[in-house]
Amino acid sequence: MDRSLQSSPAQEVDRMPPARAVAVVGAGAAGLVAARELLREGHAVTVFERSDRVGGTWAYDPRADETDPLGAAVHGSLYASLRTNLPRELMGFSGHESLVGRVFAGDPRTFPGHQEVLAFLRAFAEESGVARRVRLRAEVVRAAPPLGRGGESGERWSVAWRGEDGEVAVEAFDAVVVCNGHCTVPLVPKLPGIGKWRGKQMHSHNYRIPEPFRDQIVVVVGLGASGIDIAREISQVTKEVHIASRQNEHRLGKISIDPYLNVWMHAEVDCIQEDGQVRFAEGAAVAADVILYCTGYRYHFPFLDLDELTVDDENRVGPLYKHVFPPKYAPNLSFVGLPVKTILFQSFELEAKWVARVLSGRAALPSEEGMLDAVREHYRRMEESGRPRRHTHALMPEWVEYMDWLAEQVGERRLEARRRDIYERALQRVWSLDGGYRDSCEDEEKGSGDSKV
Ligand SMILES: Cc1cc2nc3c(=O)[nH]c(=O)nc-3n(C[C@H](O)[C@H](O)[C@H](O)COP(=O)(O)OP(=O)(O)OC[C@H]3O[C@@H](n4cnc5c(N)ncnc54)[C@H](O)[C@@H]3O)c2cc1C
Repeated sequence: MDRSLQSSPAQEVDRMPPARAVAVVGAGAAGLVAARELLREGHAVTVFERSDRVGGTWAYDPRADETDPLGAAVHGSLYASLRTNLPRELMGFSGHESLVGRVFAGDPRTFPGHQEVLAFLRAFAEESGVARRVRLRAEVVRAAPPLGRGGESGERWSVAWRGEDGEVAVEAFDAVVVCNGHCTVPLVPKLPGIGKWRGKQMHSHNYRIPEPFRDQIVVVVGLGASGIDIAREISQVTKEVHIASRQNEHRLGKISIDPYLNVWMHAEVDCIQEDGQVRFAEGAAVAADVILYCTGYRYHFPFLDLDELTVDDENRVGPLYKHVFPPKYAPNLSFVGLPVKTILFQSFELEAKWVARVLSGRAALPSEEGMLDAVREHYRRMEESGRPRRHTHALMPEWVEYMDWLAEQVGERRLEARRRDIYERALQRVWSLDGGYRDSCEDEEKGSGDSKV
């Protein structure tokens, strides 16, 4: 058992109970690092992965949902040309050769293509020993606590999983860590008057290449990292692109930055008019061919049917203590990888360390009521500051506090100021709409002779 973890947090308990048998659902970045941390803590780990490879989202899948462009028939949401929106330095795991200083798939760029991240994750799985614990083509179809509860000692969770042959087997585990990914099921806003729309609709989940949009007029709804990338890419072949977003109020009208030749910014979509045109909140209207939703994803746990854990219409998973433990089922059910708007890989790793330590008894949780109080307090503070429910798991602006809080639980140092700066600068670059930010950043580095961003 690896005892090399750093000094203990205040609530660490002294006695180490026996290792637990833990099922991890999913072998994406979150599941892989969760498995590594559980192994390091001495647990017996089985990772269930329904696809035929590790890497999750980063295993690019050229297929899309052919029958329903708003559907989620495949897991992956990457487009062919995708490069990371965070510099590679922020996409590694500690203690392992990270993406810095090492090239995995022949792409040494600061913002590499998706193949490089996948190759890194594969190497990480092999070198950390996690790969041996992964069962491929093994889909968890149900995870349930006996007698409906997961907290009491001696109880075991039953995990039903379907193998390649279609047979379902059931195995018992002390604990289940859910890492099934949250970028698959499209979140599609219901636009007022959408019944009058006669054109095509698609979600970015099913976007792969620009060619199908040639000579079309496209309304892109949403201005996240994917929305910006996709709008820029399709603008090279479309007749016009119209981006609708709440964040556009200060920059309405035609964009005059290279390479946006035919792109307009609008406020959010107001409605679909009687004549089928898309009307925007500032009053403009456009007769478009396609509405392309870049509006994010829904949390989805089809294998969990628990009476005190829900995903509501506003995409709030709750109640969840610190986005990880559902109080009623803690510590034997946990989630790694729910929060967004943070350095994701680092956040996965810290959450994973916390779960591993809680399961071994080296960190303690508050009582069920104490955790519920903390969740209620989180919701109350969100409401007080006017943050919508749909942002429950979006950590901005308190993302550093969250990372530091987790670090404290597992005896690690607070987030380095340098990493915080790199992340915040990367976000600003994305929002700047500068199409060449990835390469100009690279050039800046070369110019400064610095190997890091
Ligand atoms: C377009 C796009 C661009 C992105 N760019 C970046 C970026 O630049 N930087 C960054 O840090 N992040 C980025 N992300 C976020 C990305 O989601 C995370 O980096 C990370 O891949 C999430 O890892 P995960 O393990 O939580 O989920 P996933 O990678 O989705 O992995 C989940 C795994 O669980 C498996 N699974 C699901 N259900 C079951 C089941 N029932 N049984 C067994 N297995 C199951 C899936 O097959 C999958 O392998 C991007 C996401 C998208 C969609």
